[in-house]
Amino acid sequence: MSKIDHTRGSEALAFLIDQCLAPTPENYALAYIALTDPGSPIGQMVNAITSDGFRLRQDEADEIIRLQAAGRMPVSVADERAEHDALRHQAIKLGEAATSAAAATGAFARELSAEAETFDGGETRTVQIVARMIERSKSTELDLNAAASEVAALRQELETARDDAQRDQLTGLGNRRAIDRHLKRLADSGRPRVVGMCDVDFFKAVNDRYGHGVGDRVLKQVASSLAKACAPHFVGRWGGEEFLVVMEGDDKAAGVALLDQARGDLAKREFKLRENDEPMGQITFSGGVALATGDHADSIAAIHRADAALYRAKAEGRNRICSD
Ligand code: GH3
Ligand code: MG
Ligand code: MG
Repeated sequence: MSKIDHTRGSEALAFLIDQCLAPTPENYALAYIALTDPGSPIGQMVNAITSDGFRLRQDEADEIIRLQAAGRMPVSVADERAEHDALRHQAIKLGEAATSAAAATGAFARELSAEAETFDGGETRTVQIVARMIERSKSTELDLNAAASEVAALRQELETARDDAQRDQLTGLGNRRAIDRHLKRLADSGRPRVVGMCDVDFFKAVNDRYGHGVGDRVLKQVASSLAKACAPHFVGRWGGEEFLVVMEGDDKAAGVALLDQARGDLAKREFKLRENDEPMGQITFSGGVALATGDHADSIAAIHRADAALYRAKAEGRNRICSD
């Protein structure tokens, strides 16, 4: 984002005089952007013509403005209505361009305001021109800002959709897809990881006794208790009443300790029926822990080993954590 430089306004006017171009809003905008952002498409085109000492002719300036308008770069303020409609329809393509151009145009308007204040009374016509330019640049800025917020809103929608696709609806935790992505990312960057598979003990009995709705509520609580106890480590819903914890590092014992802490936290909680406060008894889980140090296939193998350790924990009496 360009910082406001108060010498740029006069430089843009000086550039126009130097090039024998009339100080129209379009020309001013062109000169201003070319000077403040030489690397921009406008800056590059203007530079290509003027760098060898050639003068920028009005028809060339018009062509640059026309090209940029066609490419949806918001330079031309000549036809604001058409520009506005075009901007609305091109919202996605505008992207960063609209945001940074809005900032540049805003800076341009502020620049001109500062410029107008320094003109003395004798320069009535110039002041009038500048005042008109300020008005136009402001309305262009509004159009650009509207387009930029539209882009931001669309981007937000896209991110929400992307997020939804990786989130388990019941618990709000990452789903299988999120777990897979997370593990792949760690494997790709060569980081070792400890995986912990957790499975709620006798959960079928909760459903059988209290119904599926209560079972769902219990699952949500188990998920949040586990996520809280394991934070900031990754916790996802593997499926059903099974959750996967992923810890970075190669300390398997620390992984066992973390899961055991989470297990203890959950076991201490008192679950009661919402309807009549009837205690539901202890809810516990068992866990299995394993280490992966290689590629993604190694993560999958570690999950299998963690699963085997989990079933040993079940066999040894549940409500405990075992490692491979
Ligand atoms: P164990 O200690 O051996 O794990 O016993 P368990 O009863 O937990 O094991 P089992 O795999 O037999 O039962 C798991 C139950 O979890 C069966 C299934 O109906 C229930 N379940 C899976 N997903 C959900 C869910 O989203 N909501 C509810 N309410 N129940 C679910
Ligand atoms: Mg299970
Ligand atoms: Mg179970």
